[in-house]
This record gives sequence, C-alpha cells and structure tokens, in this order.
Amino acid sequence: MNIHEYQAKELLAEHGIAVPKGHAALTVEEAVEAAKQLPGPLYVVKAQIHAGGRGKGKFKELDANAKGGVRLAQSIDEVEEAAREMLGNTLVTVQTGDEGKQVNRLYVTDGVDIAHEYYLSLLVDRASGKVAMIASTEGGMDIEDVAHNTPEKITTITIDPAQGFMPHHGRAVAFALKLTGDTNKQAQKLAKQLYEAFLQLDMEMLEINPLVEDKESNLLVLDTKMSFDGNALYRHKNVEEMRDETEEDPAEVEASEYDLAYIKLDGNIGCMVNGAGLAMATMDIIKLNGAFPANFLDVGGGATTEKVTAAFKIILKDPAVEGILVNIFGGIMKCDVIANGIVQAAKDVNLSVPLVVRLEGTNVQAGKEILENSGLPIVSADDLGDAAKKIVAEVKKAA
Ligand code: GDP
Ligand code: MG
Repeated sequence: MNIHEYQAKELLAEHGIAVPKGHAALTVEEAVEAAKQLPGPLYVVKAQIHAGGRGKGKFKELDANAKGGVRLAQSIDEVEEAAREMLGNTLVTVQTGDEGKQVNRLYVTDGVDIAHEYYLSLLVDRASGKVAMIASTEGGMDIEDVAHNTPEKITTITIDPAQGFMPHHGRAVAFALKLTGDTNKQAQKLAKQLYEAFLQLDMEMLEINPLVEDKESNLLVLDTKMSFDGNALYRHKNVEEMRDETEEDPAEVEASEYDLAYIKLDGNIGCMVNGAGLAMATMDIIKLNGAFPANFLDVGGGATTEKVTAAFKIILKDPAVEGILVNIFGGIMKCDVIANGIVQAAKDVNLSVPLVVRLEGTNVQAGKEILENSGLPIVSADDLGDAAKKIVAEVKKAA
C-alpha cells in the first residue's frame, strides 16, 4: 500500500526526522489558510498523488508551457493561483501512465532555500534478504538518469536485520553522500532514524528524493515516497487509516473487500482461479494459446457462492473482457459446491460472454453434471490445456 507525501512526512516527523512544515488542503481556500500558517516568504504547493515525477509533470487541461505539480510560490496570492490551477486537473508524470491522475489534494509547505539535493532510499532486498540503503550525491528529479548513465554515483549499503543498524552503516551513508563536519553527523543520525522507522512500520520501500541540505547546513527530507507490506498492515492501524482508495484501481479496491487477490491486466480473457500458482499457470497457458489474460484473480481456498459472484462481477466490469476461463482445483473445496456457485453467479450477472470451466478434484463428476444441467451455455473442459484452447476458440467464434 502506498500513501501520500504529506502522510509519509507525518510518520517521519513522529520518528524525530526533520521535514519542512506544511499542511494538506482539499480546496483553494484551505490551501490559502495553510499558507497563512507558514512563515513564508517562500511556499511550495505540491500535488498529492500516488506517483512521483510531479515536478516535471504536465497538466492535461493546461497548456504545454504551464508549470508542473510542484510549484514554488513567493506570496499567498501565488499559492492561491497555483492551487486554483492544480486542483481538479489531471497530472501526467513518468509514473502515472498516459491517463494521468486527478489532483484532489495539495500539500502546502514551507519553502526551503536549497544548497544541495541528495538521494537516499531503503528497500527490502529480496536477493540478499537484507535491507538495502541506497545513497547518491545526485538527488533531485533525474535520479533514474543518474542510475542509468553514471551508476558509480550510487552506493548501496546492506543492513542485516538480525544484526541491526550499526554505527558503521551510518558512517557509510554519510561518506557516500560526501558529507563532512556537522552534516556528516546529521546524515549518520538520519540514516539510523530512517532504518528504525522502516523496520518499525513494516515498510517495503522508503525513498527520499531529494534529501536536501539548506543554506544553514541542515539536512531535511524534502520529498518522500513510502510503501508498506500489505500483510503487516494489521499491526499499524494508523497507517491503514492513511489508505486513499481514490488513488487505487476501483476494481482492485472492490476485490480486496471480498478478500480476492485481483490485479487488472491488458488482455481480453478474464480468469477466475483458486491459488496464486494455478492463476499464474492459467495466465501462461492462455498466452501460449495466442490470447492474453485480462486479469489475475485468485479466489483463495474457501471460495463461497458470494465470493464467486463478486469475482464474476469484478471480471465483467472490465469492458475488455470477451470471455471467462474458470480454473478451479477442488481440494478442500468440493467441485459440486463450486459448480453451484458458478451457476448461481452466472445467472445473477446475466453472463453475456463465453464461459469455459475446468474443474478437477473432489466430487468432480457431480460438479460437471451440475454445469451440464444448468441450461447455461457453459463449456466444460478436461484439463488446463483443453480449457485454454476452448476459451480462445470461443472468444474467436463470438467475435
Ligand atoms: P517530485 O517531482 O514528485 O519528485 O517532487 P519533489 O517534491 O521532489 O520536487 C521536485 C523538485 O522541486 C525538487 O527536486 C526541488 O528541486 C524542487 N523543490 C521542491 N521543494 C522545494 C523547496 O522547498 N525549495 C526549492 N527551492 N525547491 C523545491
Ligand atoms: Mg522527488
């Protein structure tokens, strides 16, 4: 799960980490009020969307020369103007895709007089099973280019969670950032605080870009992106409450309400499968037969009629879906129970696209009979390969 910049900064501030003062705003009036509470004379008005690259982004509704989603303002009037231009409009950045994201929320912050921009991030490194801390002197808006063109300017420091954060890790970070004197000490302390926040909050990724040194030689977190391990969210109610569902794919939000693991993809064959491994294999075999899956969907081990119906409805909401392949292995679940669920769900949603069902496992014969006697145009398949061939053929026939 991702959260907004202003929320991430609140969490960092709770860990004693220095961030510029600021307030979130949903309206132009709130943005003006927020600015009035800041010392000025420099303010920054920042679009709050779950995507980076805002500074260099472009608004669909504004002309090509208009500024992006991070704007410096020299007065309250300029804050008002920036807020008016951004709110409600669609910001397209390298991370949003072409459709962009609507800006519904702003963050108005105290402007910082920047001496240098650095880069610092933490993530779970699956290869080493450790936490990786990545540091670079070349922070700011072009870190991807730095990584591509001058990888030697990026240093990775790995921390074994069993050992924990050691003073030498902090020194390595400060050294990688080429800091001396007091800022070097600040960086060591900051690295430790970030590591502790990362672990304590079960983060997946914490990126600070840029980390800045201001003209008074203070290190400050100017921008941050944070994402969390969804399986650990129950341990962090305060973080869970920060979820902004308007930033997520509506079908994925609905699926999560039914405890379905659903991910939207670009193809035309909807899949309903139990078990993540079988769901992956199903997607592969659809591709092998020359078509593309419209989604990944794992209904889980204990799928009820209600869950199967919800899954059908979610799959069918995608206008690209031209056929559905159900591939269920009845182990703990019995095939006849699943077949009843499928028939009920197909009736409930007035199924209008071809449906191929492959059932295997306990009570498979009874399950197949239920499908056959349902009066619905359900095509039964014997195995995974057969099922994929049949759905691809059915979709072609219907087209
Ligand atoms: P991003 O484009 O989504 O990564 O948004 P950032 O918050 O990182 O802002 C983009 C850039 O705007 C930064 O790299 C800075 O150069 C600039 N910027 C952001 N906040 C301030 C500020 O307080 N003062 C100054 N001078 N520049 C800022
Ligand atoms: Mg940034």
